[in-house]
Amino acid sequence: MAEVLVLVDHVDGEVKKVTTELLTAARRIGEPAAVWVGAGADSGTAKLAEYGAQKVYTAPAELADYVVAPKAELLAHLAQEKSAAAVLVSATPENKEIAGRTAVKLGSGVLTDVVDVTGEVVTEHSVFGGATVTHAKVRSGVPVVAVRPNSVPAEPAEGAAEQEEVSVELSDAAKAAKVVERVVQEKGERPELTEAAIVVSGGRGVGSDDFSVVESLADSLGAAVGASRAAVDSGWYPNQFQVGQTGKTVSPNLYVALGISGAIQHRAGMQTSKNIVAVNKDPEAPIFELADFGVVGDLHTVAPQLTEEINKRK
Ligand SMILES: Cc1cc2nc3c(=O)[nH]c(=O)nc-3n(C[C@H](O)[C@H](O)[C@H](O)COP(=O)(O)OP(=O)(O)OC[C@H]3O[C@@H](n4cnc5c(N)ncnc54)[C@H](O)[C@@H]3O)c2cc1C
Repeated sequence: MAEVLVLVDHVDGEVKKVTTELLTAARRIGEPAAVWVGAGADSGTAKLAEYGAQKVYTAPAELADYVVAPKAELLAHLAQEKSAAAVLVSATPENKEIAGRTAVKLGSGVLTDVVDVTGEVVTEHSVFGGATVTHAKVRSGVPVVAVRPNSVPAEPAEGAAEQEEVSVELSDAAKAAKVVERVVQEKGERPELTEAAIVVSGGRGVGSDDFSVVESLADSLGAAVGASRAAVDSGWYPNQFQVGQTGKTVSPNLYVALGISGAIQHRAGMQTSKNIVAVNKDPEAPIFELADFGVVGDLHTVAPQLTEEINKRK
């Protein structure tokens, strides 16, 4: 069976959930082979084995010193050397760039923002505010596929996860942009926005920089907090929490939109959420076209009641 290369997302050796989802998807196509860049492969390998990785290719340490280009050269090199059936990466902004560059090097096609992958490498995409599902297939070369986090449920399966050091001769161009400093972002108790199973977002309807109404509901659900661009542009919430076309793309099991109208640019970042709940005082708000459950009301009345009820039931 041909190998399917999966670029591992990890933080200092701790494998991110999205990688376990990619390994699950990879098993439908061929034999999953994880590609590890950076330190910590020894501590992350057990997790990769739990989700069916048969191989773990560990890249030379220097690759972690650069931004995207060397990773694309590594993936393209491995895809050719191993005659891979496909290359899978998570659909983060950085990895989408890696996917594009890898596909160019391989002379193949790239599919991004994929929400499902089936055998024969047919990908599913959710478009037009979730109203339409399209399927796509790369017609020549090794398909390079960027899958959205939370799209494919991770299922464990035993894998050998045999480590193998690999090397690649990097071009001078790939080494042009180097990482000179890393700043650790302060992390709160809440889950990471793009990986969270539940996201509670606030929009202009919140009305001020007091986002506690959104945060309290999020905390009662163990959710991440998101925000519309209107809320971010007003300075009410930091921009790394913006959901949408020019913000983060999320695909949680539950997305709660508080005081968000549902503009197309916001939908672009959350339309593939499995269940959408909206609270908006305007019954004509477009978000209700997308919502599985909608409440017409003032979020400052509805959300605290919901929070209280959830906390009571814990
Ligand atoms: C190129 C481009 C890129 C963009 N990228 C993004 C993006 O990434 N993400 C994004 O979000 N937007 C993006 N936008 C902006 C987008 O078009 C909208 O302007 C924005 O999403 C609106 O945010 P909002 O829904 O919070 O505000 P509004 O559209 O003003 O909606 C506020 C909603 O809150 C409701 N409301 C008000 N008070 C209450 C209350 N007390 N209780 C309940 N409901 C209440 C109102 O009825 C209304 O529906 C982009 C725009 C452009 C042009």
